Amino acid sequence: MTTNPNIENRAIEKYLRQDRLPHIFCSGCGVGPAIGSFLRAINRTGMDPDKTIVVSGIGCSGRAAGYIKLDSFHTTHGRAIPFATGLKMANPELNVVVFSGDGDLVTIGGNHLIHAARRNITMTVICINNFIYGMTGGQVGSTSPLEARTTTTPYGNFEAPFNLPYLVSASGATYVARWTILHIRQLSFVEVIAPCPTQFGRMNQKPRGLDHLHYYQEKSVIRNGADPRDAAIELDGPILVGKFVDIERPTLRDGLQQITERAKGNNKAE
Ligand code: SF4
Ligand code: MG
Repeated sequence: MTTNPNIENRAIEKYLRQDRLPHIFCSGCGVGPAIGSFLRAINRTGMDPDKTIVVSGIGCSGRAAGYIKLDSFHTTHGRAIPFATGLKMANPELNVVVFSGDGDLVTIGGNHLIHAARRNITMTVICINNFIYGMTGGQVGSTSPLEARTTTTPYGNFEAPFNLPYLVSASGATYVARWTILHIRQLSFVEVIAPCPTQFGRMNQKPRGLDHLHYYQEKSVIRNGADPRDAAIELDGPILVGKFVDIERPTLRDGLQQITERAKGNNKAE
């Protein structure tokens, strides 16, 4: 393992589909750095790339599957998690990682997200939260802060947003963390606060990627073990970051095995 950035960048190049470059991301976009963090995590942890699968949905973040040179699947809108669930249940040896955006995972696919947390499927969900539907035109989503201006709420968003760490922890997720794209070293899961200067930033006084990084630097508050209920984000307000939940409980596969054994026992008794 190396942490020299130049050497490490060369080490992760093998995980990129270079024939797909140049990429589609706007200048200042947070998706590319998040993909880079994910690839560095693979490199540093020694995860077996032959057993690591990336599943994405639709959107700018959902393009990750197209650029990452692992077995990767670009699925339909909001359906990355059920697709990944099938992969994991069919082959429990796989490291299944869902990598997608807030619009895809939470707004279109929110039902799948909460049920995956409830079932405790052994998978990692990396949710790039840029508070907006980026690719489809900057529409308001279920994570857009109150009063945020978007293309469909030009006078400000009047719908209360989801607090994602609270949503998934209340649904049963065993590991919940949030970092921003500025906290590049800690990125290992779940909610990654990331700039969309093109669609969200231009409507909310942060038209450059750098504006978002200044905001993250000034307003991020690191509090590991914080109560996820305290993690709601207000427009331009503080962003609570850290590892909020890290617990163990039986997985979906454990439950399936237990019930299968019980059924076999019952059959023998008959
Ligand atoms: Fe990134 Fe936003 Fe551009 Fe999409 S529209 S590539 S999320 S900056
Ligand atoms: Mg988004």
